[in-house]
Amino acid sequence: MKKRANKYQKKHHGIRNVIFLIFSILLITLIVYGISAVLNRGEASGSNSKVPQTSSRSNSNRKTSSSGQSETTGPTQKWLQSKTDNELPILMFHYASSQAADLAGGSNWMPDSTLEADLLALKNAGYTTVTSEQAIKIMTSHTKPSNKMVWLTFDDGSLTLYRDVFPLLKKYNMHATGAIITGFVDNHQSGILTWEQIKEMKASGLVDFISHTVSHLDLGTLSTADATYQLQQSKKELDSELGQDTNIICYPAGGYNQETIQIAKNLGYSYGIIDPGRNGAVAKEATASDGLMTLPRFRMASTTGPSLMMSYVSPATTFNEQNTMK
Ligand SMILES: [Zn+2]
Repeated sequence: MKKRANKYQKKHHGIRNVIFLIFSILLITLIVYGISAVLNRGEASGSNSKVPQTSSRSNSNRKTSSSGQSETTGPTQKWLQSKTDNELPILMFHYASSQAADLAGGSNWMPDSTLEADLLALKNAGYTTVTSEQAIKIMTSHTKPSNKMVWLTFDDGSLTLYRDVFPLLKKYNMHATGAIITGFVDNHQSGILTWEQIKEMKASGLVDFISHTVSHLDLGTLSTADATYQLQQSKKELDSELGQDTNIICYPAGGYNQETIQIAKNLGYSYGIIDPGRNGAVAKEATASDGLMTLPRFRMASTTGPSLMMSYVSPATTFNEQNTMK
């Protein structure tokens, strides 16, 4: 019996030892796991806090301005120095078409032959057609790419920008800026560009895009909430569709008030272009003293051919009565 009891005790001890060993291993494992979990959580929260910074940093690297060119690729070093604030003629086009039915649409419809003559005149006279980013640099620095420069802007995101204007820009290697009404694009509105066409033009480097709001309402007449929506939503869409930081607003019908400007600034716009003849705006070359949120333009009507246009872009043009016409 004693022997058996001894055996039993020994066996019992053995089992206890094994259980103790297993328990110890489990305990150590738990402690190690616990410590590593705590460390991991620390790292994770550390890296989590870095995620937005990292992604926003890489976003800002990836993002370009409205012009589609990165900040560092501009040939700034080759630019001319200017002693005073630069003056930049900004031309306001709408639609150019080869189709007679279109041209019955009114004074904003320019025959494509007139547009081609205008582009050719600028080309032959040695004008540089600037990107929106270059335009901003010209407005905010005492440097310029050329003594002869002009910013071509096309309002409303018309299909004609792709169908009729883009081929001419390619033909003469000239640059233009399109002001997009994002809601019209989203609704696949007839006669309006698609996002694919907009992206193709942007990728060419010949066209960049700025905001012309969501639905082309006169911002100067809207409530704070409605104006905010128009400015915010259009910027958000252009930013995400085109991978850019849209910072230029083209006020629909040139309509704005002081609150509009403040809302736009709060939302990340730093520059605005206006229409001649609205809010007392006169047609003249834009310069910093006009206010960066209210840069004036020259209206290019259906009949504005090379000789009138050259009088706009030539230096020292100030008020021009014809540009106050609606
Ligand atoms: Zn418009």
